[in-house]
Amino acid sequence: MATQNDCCVKVSLRIRPQMAKEKIEGCHICTLVTPGEPQVLLGKDKAFTYDFVFDLDAQQQQIYTACVHKLIEGCFDGYNATVFAYGQTGSGKTYTMGTGFDVNLTDDEQGIIPRAVQQLFQGIERRRAEAQRGRVQPPEFKVSAQFLELYNEEILDLFDSTRDLDARGRKSNIKIHEDASGSIYTTGVTSRLVNSEDELLQCLKLGALSRTTASTQMNAQSSRSHAIFTIYLCQMRVCQQGDLMTVDEMEEINGVSNGSLSKPEYETLTAKFHFVDLAGSERLKRTGATGERAREGISINCGLLALGNVISALGDHSKKGGHVPYRDSKLTRLLQDSLGGNSRTVMIACVSPSDRDFMETLNTLKYANRAR
Ligand code: ADP
Ligand code: MG
Repeated sequence: MATQNDCCVKVSLRIRPQMAKEKIEGCHICTLVTPGEPQVLLGKDKAFTYDFVFDLDAQQQQIYTACVHKLIEGCFDGYNATVFAYGQTGSGKTYTMGTGFDVNLTDDEQGIIPRAVQQLFQGIERRRAEAQRGRVQPPEFKVSAQFLELYNEEILDLFDSTRDLDARGRKSNIKIHEDASGSIYTTGVTSRLVNSEDELLQCLKLGALSRTTASTQMNAQSSRSHAIFTIYLCQMRVCQQGDLMTVDEMEEINGVSNGSLSKPEYETLTAKFHFVDLAGSERLKRTGATGERAREGISINCGLLALGNVISALGDHSKKGGHVPYRDSKLTRLLQDSLGGNSRTVMIACVSPSDRDFMETLNTLKYANRAR
């Protein structure tokens, strides 16, 4: 298979099942996955190949295992990661990502974020338990989260409880900065420090609720904004020439009164993981947007356009070291240090299988194709 395993951007395609309404209205399925190949045929003759292709019947667990599991493990080694869902409204982005935090979902139906949160805390527990069994000083972990919404190139804080419902009309004081080492950080954003899976999921739930409430109040759809849920993992561990020190060794060292060895060396590893539920990619003309709506649409497309250009520049091996246009939108600026470089990125392109969405599906398949 000609898959570029070393590429830092992986592209997956997910085709959601047909909805009852589409079946009732007689929509035909216009996508066909080639058995045993990560390839899809749209209509009669439009074939596309990705790193993974998930057909109508794929389960949430399958997508998680193939696309995200490795990235969470990477966070423990200090690698940043980004997973984003792209596609037209109704194609399954929020379902796949798990951003909506729908209480009616069964365990099997949980999306990526709740699964990632579980894997993260299990990973922390495992490392603590292993340290104890091996009689080494257990590593310390700090987990925090942020939940932002990008709307019209405006950044909104979904964790800010003081944010009132007309926040969309006002300027927020959130700023994006870059430090000397190229790390991106924000100021004016609420960070929630969490100690457990439950606490983190509770945060996600409140943020998701705040997002839908504000959307309804402002008569705007959450499909017009990007939601970015970010988990920060900070890990402090003892190191001695690359090895963890045993408790016995530590006691021995602490017993030496004047030794230069009296302090064990610590190393701090940080990583962040962005989960991005992108704004709907549909074309304006189809929804018949005018005025304010059209303006929203244009700047949403600005983020999606910029992201497409960044991903495409990253995937272009011939242009290695070339210019990556991160600064063209707030979205790509925010994700800058978690796209490309040492970080791992997965795009999940979500599409409808129905023929009436043919053109939007084709647009999504093309967009996703640029990333390879
Ligand atoms: P988007 O966020 O792209 O607008 P949603 O995630 O809200 O789309 O999905 C639209 C509808 O389809 C929702 O009711 C969702 O529950 C359902 N849906 C999407 N993907 C799947 C899937 N793989 N299996 C079952 N239902 C799905
Ligand atoms: Mg959605």
